This record gives sequence, structure tokens and C-alpha cells, in this order.
Amino acid sequence: MEKVKKILVAAGLLILFLFLIFLLVFIMNFSKSLKKQSQNSTRTTEKITTKQQSILYPPVSDAKSRITKKPFGIFVTPQNSPVQPEKFTGYHTGTDFETTPAEANQEILVFATCSGNVRVKEFVSGYGGVIVQDCRIQGQAVTVLYGHIDITQSFEPSVGQNVAAGTKLAILAPADSHFTDGERKHLHLGIHKGSQIDFRGYVQNKAELSGWLNAANYL
Ligand SMILES: [Zn+2]
Repeated sequence: MEKVKKILVAAGLLILFLFLIFLLVFIMNFSKSLKKQSQNSTRTTEKITTKQQSILYPPVSDAKSRITKKPFGIFVTPQNSPVQPEKFTGYHTGTDFETTPAEANQEILVFATCSGNVRVKEFVSGYGGVIVQDCRIQGQAVTVLYGHIDITQSFEPSVGQNVAAGTKLAILAPADSHFTDGERKHLHLGIHKGSQIDFRGYVQNKAELSGWLNAANYL
């Protein structure tokens, strides 16, 4: 009887031991698959982010590399501005795309950054030539303002015309001219939320910036 008992205990221990090994292997595999899953979901997030960042057509060639002086939201004063001389004070509601000295006498094309109707094409103080276009970004209605452009070119769309993203809109006006309103040669791109046009290039309260989108996040 004693012997049978011993055998039973030994068998029980062996079964317990095998079960523990099985449990260990199972847990290891499970954690491996969890890790894989989280890696996959990170990859998906990356994909979505990349897609979000290229929602807009570049409004000028090499657009991103031209954002060197006044990005969206920068607070400028005549004293601290990266552009001298400076006449403005406030938080920048748009994104400025600069030109190089070599481009001073070249025609720099401006392209529609999204698809939609041209709402405005006129001279606006502080900008010179301006086109405002109705667009949708991720389903949200916006008005897109292109400032400091020559609005006399024959290829330009007229008010009311629907233009597709990537269509030639205008050329940048020469530095210190009527159509830059005395500013350097550059593009100011302002994306205002909603369908109401707001011509302000600067706001005095930081909180008001929430009325605009940062173009760099969509390029
Ligand atoms: Zn600007």
C-alpha cells in the first residue's frame, strides 16, 4: 500500500511539473503575441499620422524647407521679429514661406493647396495681393488665405471658380512692391477654421490662434 501511495504522489508531482512547464510556455507565447500586436498598432498610427501630414498640396515648391522665419503661432514684435524691419506685433495666424536671394527675379508659382472655390481676389492692406479659397480639411470647412501674391496674371482663376489642389493660382509678388504691400517676397498662408473669412495675419491673444490651423501639420 505504501508503495502505491508513493507512486501516486510521484505521478501527481510529475503531472504538476508538466502542467507548470506548459503554463510557462503558454504565458511566454501570449506575451510575445501581445508585443507584436502593439508594434502593429504603432505602425498603423504612424501611417495615419503620415497621411494626415500630407493632406495639403505644397503651395510653393519645397514648401516645408521654406518655413524659416515665421511659422504658425510665432509671437513677433518690431524688436524681436526674425524679419527686420517689422511693422507687426502679435501671434502669427499663418505660415510664411520664404524665397532665396537667387529667386528675387524668378517667377515663384503659388499652387492651390486644396480643392475649392475662389472666394476673394483683391488688394488687402498688410498683404498686398490676396486670394482666399474655400476648402475642406478632414471634412472641416476652412478658408485659405494666400497673401503677398501678384493678382494680375492671366492664368489666375477668377472669383467663384472652382480650382483643384495643385492648380497654378498666382505668382509671388516682387519684394517691396504694391502686391506685397511693402513686404519681402514670400507667401503668407493662413488657414482659418469655418467658412467665415478672417483677414487678420496676427492676433493679440494667444487663445485666438485656435481659430486657425497650422499648415505645417498638413504638408
Ligand atoms: Zn505671414
